[in-house]
Amino acid sequence: MHDEVVTVVGGGLAGSEAAWQLAQRGHDVVLHEMRPVRQTEAHRTDRLAELVCSNTFKSTELSTAHGAIKAEMRELGCLVLECADLARVAAGSALAVDRDVFAATVTERIQSHPRITVERGEIEALPVGPAIIATGPLTSDGLAASLRQRLGADSLAFYDAIAPVVSRDSIDESRVFTASRYGKETMEGATEGAYLNCAMDHAEYEAFVSALDTADQFHGHEFDKVPYFSGCMPVEEMNSRGHETLRFGPLKPVGLSDPRTGVRPHAVVQLRREDRAGRLWNLVGFQTRLRIPEQQRVFRMIPGLANAEFLRYGSIHRNSYVNSPSVLTSAMALKDDERIFLAGQITGVEGYTESTASGLLAGINLSRVLRGQQPVVPPTTTMLGALYRYLREADPRHFQPMNANFGLVDDLDEQIRDKRVKKERIAERAVREMREWRQSNLVGSPVAVP
Ligand SMILES: Cc1cc2nc3c(=O)[nH]c(=O)nc-3n(C[C@H](O)[C@H](O)[C@H](O)COP(=O)(O)OP(=O)(O)OC[C@H]3O[C@@H](n4cnc5c(N)ncnc54)[C@H](O)[C@@H]3O)c2cc1C
Repeated sequence: MHDEVVTVVGGGLAGSEAAWQLAQRGHDVVLHEMRPVRQTEAHRTDRLAELVCSNTFKSTELSTAHGAIKAEMRELGCLVLECADLARVAAGSALAVDRDVFAATVTERIQSHPRITVERGEIEALPVGPAIIATGPLTSDGLAASLRQRLGADSLAFYDAIAPVVSRDSIDESRVFTASRYGKETMEGATEGAYLNCAMDHAEYEAFVSALDTADQFHGHEFDKVPYFSGCMPVEEMNSRGHETLRFGPLKPVGLSDPRTGVRPHAVVQLRREDRAGRLWNLVGFQTRLRIPEQQRVFRMIPGLANAEFLRYGSIHRNSYVNSPSVLTSAMALKDDERIFLAGQITGVEGYTESTASGLLAGINLSRVLRGQQPVVPPTTTMLGALYRYLREADPRHFQPMNANFGLVDDLDEQIRDKRVKKERIAERAVREMREWRQSNLVGSPVAVP
């Protein structure tokens, strides 16, 4: 029925899911995986969908962001989650798996699908469409160079230096003030409201930098060592060069006066909005390798953040990802070729579950394009739709990868004070809306395996 053979590059989580979705919709697929001909620095086996680090897809509880997105993915018929269920090991409410059983199950399902051919070997140049590129955080050098050539030299990053993001409603309003340094205009032309400023006096600053001195850091894999020159110096590394370094760097108070005292603070931590709705706020310059409990402990010492809810934690990793807001369409296809989609971590989503979800949607959408239909993206009341909104609307000047979190999703119409109940309601709505979206957009698919 569909003559053109689809190329999927990368047999990780996103590529395996995308290939499956396409094949189930009647397309013949060649899935190219470079392992074992060429290994990455993190993978160990030749299996498809190998989990390179932890063995968990995180929580299944609907009141969590990962529980919500998984429930949505199940609505869409996700292969990877089906295989995860078969490989599940006891881990409370988390969907943890035996990694060998899991990868072997995905490999077996993919290889035995009559419409999928798996070819082993590296693809060194961007293929012609129809294609999905799902080569992940450790995309090989040749293909990375080809992507940079096609999309522009600055459009593909090789490291993510992620600063934490906190939710707006967890910031103590009485401890912060809104202003830009020297009242400078933002890109949008607004002089007010560009940054939230957490002012520190001398004692608060000294306590903070001393805590940072002794905080426990994550020491990653050898290949994960990042050359700290391109604006990605960890905050703790800067601090180790002397206690005044941060005060002359990201925490410099110049150009700011605290309206409550009328004087310049000793130091200032600035928070920059990550989304248009102003629910997610980034700690500017706080890329970090501190362990998660240490990020909570030390960063909550910042005035105004004592009860901060972290929607994303800081990290610094080897990671290839494109600047999606500037170079991809809203469905994550190339702007100059709607028959080539990107999927998985290379689009700027972060994590096993999010990467799989992105592969699922890319498979659905390439199938639609091949049938002469427009690509579709779920509504922003769903976790997946909200994540895609972030990928298309984030400020390209500061684009950093993002994981699923409730700060991305549209608010409820009703006010609910209890945070857990509120998240449950948002998640229930998300699953309902995903079901309706599927019913109205994906009628008749996936088709049966021939
Ligand atoms: C060291 C490390 C640890 C991580 N730990 C976690 C964790 O604990 N939890 C978590 O949720 N996320 C973790 N991540 C992120 C995780 O890698 C992704 O969330 C997920 O694997 C991304 O899925 P993907 O399909 O986009 O990429 P991958 O799963 O990496 O799949 C990409 C595939 O493409 C292949 N490939 C690359 N280039 C080519 C080419 N040119 N031709 C053919 N094939 C190619 C690769 O061999 C690989 O199989 C980690 C990442 C790294 C690097």
